[in-house]
Amino acid sequence: MPLHKDEGIVLFKRAYGESDKIIRLFTLNSGKVAAIAKGANKSQKRFMNTLEPFNHISLEYFEKHGKGMVRLENAYVIETNEGIEKSLKRACVAGFFTEFVDRLTRDREKHTELFYMLKDVLATIKQRDLTYSDVLYHELNMLQILGFEPNFQTCVYCGKAMDEEEKICFSNQRGGTLCNRCARFIAHKRYDQGVIAQLASMRGKKREQLSCEPVGNYSPFNNGNGKDVIFERDARELLEGFVSFHLEVEFKSYRILKSIMG
Ligand SMILES: [Zn+2]
Repeated sequence: MPLHKDEGIVLFKRAYGESDKIIRLFTLNSGKVAAIAKGANKSQKRFMNTLEPFNHISLEYFEKHGKGMVRLENAYVIETNEGIEKSLKRACVAGFFTEFVDRLTRDREKHTELFYMLKDVLATIKQRDLTYSDVLYHELNMLQILGFEPNFQTCVYCGKAMDEEEKICFSNQRGGTLCNRCARFIAHKRYDQGVIAQLASMRGKKREQLSCEPVGNYSPFNNGNGKDVIFERDARELLEGFVSFHLEVEFKSYRILKSIMG
């Protein structure tokens, strides 16, 4: 069995039997990988504090034929999750993004850009509490990378280009905005003028533009007036509805996020 080397972010861990641990990693070279760490639960020395969720680690593993679960041989921390435990909010947001990546990617599907995006998001969470607007921003960008992006640009039914003012109807079923004419016969939900346009303005930032700087600097929802809060709530609802409809995934962490972030 050849020894593989990679790096990855720990998405999940649990005890297995008396002495082992099972973890799920989002790796740079192989995407999502499940691994068993023999003896990790028994000996404090083996993999000491390495396999904690949100840690970025380097790893060496053996793999049997069939690409099932790999056997973790060595693991070292590249970057710990320190900082995420500082508030419940940080832990929940970090949990949301790891759940997002975990559930929207398939095993062994390499996603280099998504890997770096998750790494950057976690690095930011370690430094400060994210606003809900930040969460939406990163969520949209992750959806874009995964090819699940809602269409905020043109009418999703007839293809018509629309002015910002016209973008008020959103069809979950069709996955995007509807022009006024098509909205007459296609089920949709209406939003205040500005909600869809602002979501549209959030997308499209490239990875180089993502950094630990507060996203709020270019976030359209952080202008400090009361209307932004309503916009943000609507935008959140729109995206949550879109994700659960199209990806058939109900994130446990959406509910927790909502209760924590208000
Ligand atoms: Zn139309």
